[in-house]
Amino acid sequence: MLGGMQDFELRVPRLLDHAAREHGAREIVTYWADATETRTDWAGIARDARKLAQAFERLGLKPGDRVATLAMNHSRHLVAWYGAIGMGGVIHTINPRLFDEQLVYIANHAEDRVLLYDKQFQPLVDRLKSQWTSIDHYVCFDDGQFEDLIAAESGDYAWVEGPERDPCMLCYTSGTTGNPKGVLYEHRSTVIHAMAEVAPWIFNLSPSAVVLPVVPMFHAASWGLPFACALSGAKCVYAQVNDAAVLCRLMNQEKVTHTAGVPTVWLAMFGHIDATGEVPRFLEQVTIGGSAAPRAMIERIMGMGVTVKHLWGMTETSPIGTAGFPPPHWGEMTHEAQLDHVGKQGQIPFGIELQVVNDDDVVLPRDGLSSGRLQVRGPWVVKRYFRAEADAVDADQWFDTGDVAVLHTDGTMQITDRAKDVIKSGGEWISSVDLENAAIGCPGVAEAAAIGIYHPKWDERPLLIVVRKPGSAVTPAEITAHLSQHVAKWWLPEEIVFVEDLPHTATGKLLKTELRARFKDHVLA
Ligand code: ADP
Repeated sequence: MLGGMQDFELRVPRLLDHAAREHGAREIVTYWADATETRTDWAGIARDARKLAQAFERLGLKPGDRVATLAMNHSRHLVAWYGAIGMGGVIHTINPRLFDEQLVYIANHAEDRVLLYDKQFQPLVDRLKSQWTSIDHYVCFDDGQFEDLIAAESGDYAWVEGPERDPCMLCYTSGTTGNPKGVLYEHRSTVIHAMAEVAPWIFNLSPSAVVLPVVPMFHAASWGLPFACALSGAKCVYAQVNDAAVLCRLMNQEKVTHTAGVPTVWLAMFGHIDATGEVPRFLEQVTIGGSAAPRAMIERIMGMGVTVKHLWGMTETSPIGTAGFPPPHWGEMTHEAQLDHVGKQGQIPFGIELQVVNDDDVVLPRDGLSSGRLQVRGPWVVKRYFRAEADAVDADQWFDTGDVAVLHTDGTMQITDRAKDVIKSGGEWISSVDLENAAIGCPGVAEAAAIGIYHPKWDERPLLIVVRKPGSAVTPAEITAHLSQHVAKWWLPEEIVFVEDLPHTATGKLLKTELRARFKDHVLA
């Protein structure tokens, strides 16, 4: 028996229609790389997205086709998201910080038909164009190209309708060894994720919010903010450049109340504040995620009278997993206890279920002590990677996050370690396995292990621990020179140390837990 309510598929364009209808005059401000600023509003975004959808159809795109972007945060990028999704397509945000091999793999695997890109990525596009096999159309967001594309269209366009389980967005995640994996978000998962995000215990958004997302639109869908801001009618402020002075000035000029980004962003902001004395004066909430928010950072931002929201999530979880929220007795907590609370990764919102399991897959108690593999499930959590042959979840739909965590008695989740073998530097992944494999190819190196070591600016940087071959006197400089032929420059180990031997598991794998414990207090040279 069906219920008696209306058919109303949860489709993403409804978010934009709502924003245009109910909050049409709320502004979308962009600071461009050429130092100019433009202003549009939700009504303008909706108008341009319709025109773009028409233009995509004129180019021959069909529902389900992938539209790729290589771009920073700006209003045209926002139009591209809604235009592609509105014509029934899938917006595929490519992370320009990946290296060439991955950029080629991702666009070909996604079978992108169109690439929209910022002018600053023109050299990258020129370099890789011949290797991208499915892209028929290249459009630069700058220099009037994008405006020309939509100028000819009337904007008289009805969004493509369809089931809410249709795909709408594709994000690839890299890190562990092997090719990047695509997570294919649905209209439904995206809309419910946005509905969850606006709540006080996550982003706390309303029509009076002014949001400057520092987190790039290519990083896990800018944490869903382009959707949640439409849903709530928030004003959005974007910068095509990532410069603390620009961001701080924009925050004050536009009276920004909410911002979000990885920890590295706030370090740059502190540097700016210390150098100039210019403080963002209107901020109410700073959201930190993607890596653990350091205690000193939390303390400093709280000291500015600003609420610090600590998020945990992953591309596979759209990306919200948990978010910190003050407990009922917050007012009675000591300053130290408050910092402890915010330093943990937060509580579980409706829509997310979490459990920690031990090596035998036995579910561990929520006792604040039992540490195990963190598993997650819910309507906005991945089931199967794009074009994968098998599900990424077990029979009960649990997805293994690769994080190690404890759940506290009050439901707060705390990340304690990482089972996946990766290093996260400035919010971006470095594969330890790829680093080790490259190092082993260096003459004189018998064995190598890469682990992440705390770094004040980048959160983690790689330390390479090397066992030399007998009789070898290979130097750090020689190893670095060898590695630079195989990995991106920012992957190069911060430091290389030599040891007599490395610890192994019973099956001969490197025992990373022991190495991490041994080098826990290591200070990078
Ligand atoms: P994102 O960087 O958007 O969170 P990724 O998929 O690139 O998405 O990375 C997800 C991983 O980042 C998590 O599995 C976890 O290892 C790490 N991570 C994310 N947020 C936090 C956090 N608040 N504290 C510790 N680690 C985090």
